[in-house]
Amino acid sequence: MTPAAPTAASLGLLSCHICGLVSRAAAERGAQCPRCGAHLHLRRPGSVQRTWALLVASAILFVPANLLPIMTTTSFLGTQSDTIMSGVIFLWTSGSWPLAVIVFVASIMVPLLKILALGYLLVTVQRHSAWRPDERIRLYRVIELVGRWSMLDVFVVTLLVALVRFSSLAIMQPRGGALAFAGVVILTMFAAMSFDPRLIWDPVEKRDG
Ligand SMILES: [Zn+2]
Repeated sequence: MTPAAPTAASLGLLSCHICGLVSRAAAERGAQCPRCGAHLHLRRPGSVQRTWALLVASAILFVPANLLPIMTTTSFLGTQSDTIMSGVIFLWTSGSWPLAVIVFVASIMVPLLKILALGYLLVTVQRHSAWRPDERIRLYRVIELVGRWSMLDVFVVTLLVALVRFSSLAIMQPRGGALAFAGVVILTMFAAMSFDPRLIWDPVEKRDG
C-alpha cells in the first residue's frame, strides 16, 4: 500500500460538481457552493442505485441485441437477415476470420465483460470491500475508456457483413437487434458514468484511518 495521502473528504473539503470550486463544507447536509450556490455532495447521490438500474436494463437489452437480427440485406440475390452472431459466423466461414474475431470481441465480448465488470465493482462497493482498490480503479478506467469506442461496432458489423455478403449494391435495413445493441452501448456508458469511483476508496480509508 502507498502511504495514505489526505483526501479532500477527510479534510472536510467538498468540490462543486457544477463549477469545480473546492470549499470547506460547513455542514455535510444541505451545504451550498459559495461561488455558484449549487448543492454540494460528498459523493454523487444515489450513484450505486442508478448504476445498478442502468446496468440491469443494459443486461436485459443484451438478450434481444444478440437474438434479434441487426439488419436485413436485400439484393437481386435475395433477402438475408443477420444477427450479430450470424454475421460473425458468416465472416468467419467466408475467410475473413480476422474481421470475424474483431467483430465478435467488440460486439459480444466487450459489452458482456463491461456489464460483468461494472456489476463486480458495484457488489464490492456495496460490501464495503477494501480489497485491491488500485486494481478495481484500473478496471473502472478500462471500462470508461472502452465505452467511448464501442459505439462504432454495430455500424462496422452491419457494413462489413453487407459488403461481404453481397458484393453488388444491396439495400440494407437496420432491424430491432441494432437498436437493442445501441441501447446496450448507451446504457452501459451511462452506467459507467453514474458510478462514483471514489466509493472504491471509502472503505480503504476507513480501514487505514
Ligand atoms: Zn459551484
